[in-house]
Amino acid sequence: MTDILIVGAGPAGLTAALYARRAGKSVLVLEKETFGGQITHSPKVENYPGIAQMSGTEFADLLLEQVLAQGAEVEMETVTGVCRTADGFDVQTEGETYTARSVILATGSRHRQLGLPHEDELVGEGVSYCAVCDGAFYRGKDVAVIGGGNTALQEAVLLSETCAHVTLVQNLPVFTGEEKLLEILRGRDNVTFITNTVVRELHGDAALASIVLDTDGETTDFPVDGIFVAIGQVPENEPFRDLVPLTEQGYFDIDESCVTAENGVFVAGDCRRKGVRQITTATADGAAAAIAACRYIDAL
Ligand SMILES: Cc1cc2nc3c(=O)[nH]c(=O)nc-3n(C[C@H](O)[C@H](O)[C@H](O)COP(=O)(O)OP(=O)(O)OC[C@H]3O[C@@H](n4cnc5c(N)ncnc54)[C@H](O)[C@@H]3O)c2cc1C
Repeated sequence: MTDILIVGAGPAGLTAALYARRAGKSVLVLEKETFGGQITHSPKVENYPGIAQMSGTEFADLLLEQVLAQGAEVEMETVTGVCRTADGFDVQTEGETYTARSVILATGSRHRQLGLPHEDELVGEGVSYCAVCDGAFYRGKDVAVIGGGNTALQEAVLLSETCAHVTLVQNLPVFTGEEKLLEILRGRDNVTFITNTVVRELHGDAALASIVLDTDGETTDFPVDGIFVAIGQVPENEPFRDLVPLTEQGYFDIDESCVTAENGVFVAGDCRRKGVRQITTATADGAAAAIAACRYIDAL
């Protein structure tokens, strides 16, 4: 039986593995898709303390190497469920059942995409999902924020402080985010609002050059240096909803202690309710969850 089984090998899960191994616990990490998690989609990361610039893949490779060197086991498996047993947990995957004394859920989340052709190729080359992560690359440039809820408005506020111009593009007739944020944006000369409009196409070869906007069937080619897509995030916590309560948006409803009401189950990273979803906050959670899990095992 493994001491600590970790679901998800993003920054949170791998950091949890590092701390747990250094505390002498046996660790198995199960990952369904990409070792390193979402950050592997980012060509440039400039806000991780101590490292001036790196790609997300470089970061993921270094972290995975560090975790393997500490002796963690890492497998490619999709976890489909976790249930309590007399002496711990059964963790089910598509083909196996693993046993563990404790479980850390570090399942992350995904930014909802527009679903347009070339979107994936243009990520980091004009298409972004995070102003905190990538806003600095668009200083003095023209950008569009796609979306109209609180996240979109917050992204627009941040971007309007450094970009030449910010255009908010919302598919509904009104913006649904907080009035206070809208007031701030209305007070800025470099912000324009477009409603009832959807993005139909992304144009550009090596980098995004323009987007095609559709307003009630009338299309226009809109030149832009970058777009920030803020149409929501998709957590992947459904298989665990019987174990840990979820918020309305599907995040684990757990605070920064990372400790759940289910003894022996911990959560870490973007998968839980929180205000800032970054590598720094995910790794912080990974450390907190691992230390809490080690204490739990030591007390058994
Ligand atoms: C394009 C892009 C650019 C970004 N740029 C920056 C940046 O510059 N700076 C910054 O700090 N942050 C950036 N971020 C955000 C950062 O990547 C996330 O905050 C961070 O990766 C969260 O880590 P995590 O471990 O909580 O979740 P994730 O990275 O989402 O990892 C979770 C992992 O769990 C796996 N998983 C989910 N469910 C299961 C299951 N049932 N079984 C097995 N495995 C499962 C997933 O496949 C995934 O690999 C960026 C994100 C994106 C998408």
